[in-house]
Amino acid sequence: MAEPCGDASVPSGPPLPLPAHVAALLEAGVASRGQGYRGRFAPSPTGALHRGNLRTALLGWLEARLKGGEWLLRIDDLDAPRNRPGAEDALLADLAWLGLLWDGPLLRQSRRRGLYATVLSALRRGGALYPCRCSRRLLADISAPHGPLNVYPGFCRQGPRPWGPQQGRLPSWRLGLPPGRIEWRERFSRPGCLDGPAEVGDTVLRRADGVIAYHLATAVDELALGISDVLRGEDLWSSTGPQVAVMATLGWTPPVYGHVPLWRDGGGQRLSKREGSEGLEGYRARGLDGPAVIGELASSLALVPPGSRLTAVELLQTLQLGDLERCVRSPEAEGRAF
Ligand code: GLU
Repeated sequence: MAEPCGDASVPSGPPLPLPAHVAALLEAGVASRGQGYRGRFAPSPTGALHRGNLRTALLGWLEARLKGGEWLLRIDDLDAPRNRPGAEDALLADLAWLGLLWDGPLLRQSRRRGLYATVLSALRRGGALYPCRCSRRLLADISAPHGPLNVYPGFCRQGPRPWGPQQGRLPSWRLGLPPGRIEWRERFSRPGCLDGPAEVGDTVLRRADGVIAYHLATAVDELALGISDVLRGEDLWSSTGPQVAVMATLGWTPPVYGHVPLWRDGGGQRLSKREGSEGLEGYRARGLDGPAVIGELASSLALVPPGSRLTAVELLQTLQLGDLERCVRSPEAEGRAF
């Protein structure tokens, strides 16, 4: 477990009153954590999965199987303009081609908008949110001494709160964060805490264009789906603060988090789906089949020697839980080969 950050707990007031059916859904989800490990892989269909995404998926799948638990697949497709046609079908086919089969039905956030909207309304009625009319342009134009601001400076937090359209535009809605540290259980090398006002700030939960924000949908889903453990890329570590803050406002504790190293290219750059970093198409073009790709993903983590060929199930049979913990902390996990 990573270093604790202090003894402060997640700041929260009394839990918000939710409609009974939604409260029951979240409560049942959280209670089901006690029945065992449940992880999830949650890609956005914004492009082909690259080898870093595939490696994270492999780690999540292996961990769920080694713990005798479940591995859910959720498609984070709320931000429709960023979705790419065909990307969802392609990622499902890629996971299946590698033998990374998920448990239960495929979940799509776009089918769960009613749930998120109900939670959003409850947060709004409970006074946890405030309307914000600061445009992205305005916020981008304000720069801090050392670069762009990452934390909203709170311009709309005080003062009048008209929420109707102004000049044809609706406001976005932000979560007003109480002072204090936001803490969670973090498994690997990162700390499991952030200072609320200084490092997280008031997060947008519904955008001005009406789209439910990723942080709200994800926080609700981790609870409702009974996710016990979130294993995802290190680039999402800072997203944990706002997501844990939403869960705390709703009155729930978060799952356990593990953020795994990103796989960087030869120049040390992060791989990117949207920029078309190499996915399975590239591997296939080089004549590699599923076992060869599993071998490459696993050897990048020093789980098997380079050049190994094995299926995901064969890899699973060679491993113990401690191997996964060790390999995500190993220098090879940051590997730049390929
Ligand atoms: N949908 C996000 C992505 O593809 C990941 C969400 C998560 O794992 O929390 O980057």
